[in-house]
Amino acid sequence: MWDDSLDRARRFAGEWLASLPDRPVGLPVDADAMRARLDGPLPPEGLPATQVLDELAAALEPGLVASGGPRYFGFVTGGALPAALGADWMVSATDQNAAAAVMSPAAAAVEAVTTRWVLDLLGLPPDAAIGFVTGAQMANVSCLAAARHALLDAKGWDVGADGLAGAPVPTVLAGGKVHSTVLQALRLLGFGSDRAVRVPADDQGRMRPDLLRDLLAAVDGPVLVCAQAGQVDTGACDPLEAIADVVHAREQAWLHVDGAFGLWAAAAPSRRHLVAGVARAHSWAVDAHKWLNVPYDSGLAIVRDPAALTRALSLSAAYLAVDAQDPSGRTPESSRRHRALPVYAAVRSLGRRGVADLVERCCALARQAAEELGRHPGIEVLADVELNQVLFRPRDVDPGELSRAVARDGTCWVGTTVWADRPAVRFSVSNWSTTPEDISRSVAAITGAIDRATG
Ligand SMILES: *Cc1c(COP(=O)(O)O)cnc(C)c1O
Repeated sequence: MWDDSLDRARRFAGEWLASLPDRPVGLPVDADAMRARLDGPLPPEGLPATQVLDELAAALEPGLVASGGPRYFGFVTGGALPAALGADWMVSATDQNAAAAVMSPAAAAVEAVTTRWVLDLLGLPPDAAIGFVTGAQMANVSCLAAARHALLDAKGWDVGADGLAGAPVPTVLAGGKVHSTVLQALRLLGFGSDRAVRVPADDQGRMRPDLLRDLLAAVDGPVLVCAQAGQVDTGACDPLEAIADVVHAREQAWLHVDGAFGLWAAAAPSRRHLVAGVARAHSWAVDAHKWLNVPYDSGLAIVRDPAALTRALSLSAAYLAVDAQDPSGRTPESSRRHRALPVYAAVRSLGRRGVADLVERCCALARQAAEELGRHPGIEVLADVELNQVLFRPRDVDPGELSRAVARDGTCWVGTTVWADRPAVRFSVSNWSTTPEDISRSVAAITGAIDRATG
């Protein structure tokens, strides 16, 4: 019964993956034409599974982006390690509900072991808890929910039961170059994104600890400081040691670090200095689907005090019989997939050395890209390349126009941003399969597009 549909999926996946190194990356498509390939009236009768899958395989093709391939440099996008991809298929086939240990002892055990491994890799406190969530967005929400609960609990206020109205709400501080998902988390949790005091950043996007200290001096009561490892445009990491000194000098203070991709620097000996002091925080948001190269969607909400996470997020109902040890006590979801399994497989297949190599290789490739791009007279590299991000500006071409021209060429894909009030181009290296040749080919495609645009 299953064989036919799994064979279809296997063939489609095999062909897709084999094509990744050579297929045009993210060619522009007409959204209406794409939609028309899939659209039609709701079918009154069903179709055989194999026919559904065959039709889908044919229809999807033009709208699929080779974002898992070696020359996709948009956003911060990881590929999928073979072991992680295989494990992800096993997740769907076994279809476990990871909410409670009684629903899947296997899932609970995998979470426990994966937690220990990830904390070890990242140099974080071994007793911290991890919630396996969809991405750094929900990791930020989960961690800041734990912070909100703990800071208010210390004031004798149960925010879970009594809400925020009338509460002694902590003052939130965040860097000038904080990621939008931290602001979104503040919105969802009732802190209000505009209420956050913004601590100015330096020219690389790093929070200024001296200004944090000055701003904190004017604040009474509990504080929640949101720092960052890996600014999304430059890759810059906040000076976490100095920030931890400032935060730890206060009572009732919580330090959260959004390290969606940058926290993986802690796993690489040559990059670890960039996040020195990170283990002194109270919570950390990390993605597995970016730099660890686990398929979407996979993020890690890490909290030093497991009870803070559990008290903020666990749900209870008589029929559930969940206890604090159960996985659902660490995530906002109730039912969810066995998301830890591909993380386990990725870490098991790479080992400590392989994770370090992956991080260091991507950083070296980013430096190569910056050097090769910087040799072109029409390009200005805008920030130091300490991690895996390259930020640059074409001098005589609009960055958006350049991004579209590069997409039409199909060799690679780069996105845009705004830096220092002017548009710029971002080039992010986060895929295990990218090679030095991929970088040179892509730089040639980008400089070629500039040369054509400037005649
Ligand atoms: C990507 C990113 C996020 C959000 O991660 P998602 O995986 O999209 O949820 C948060 N913070 C930083 C710094 C990021 O780079």
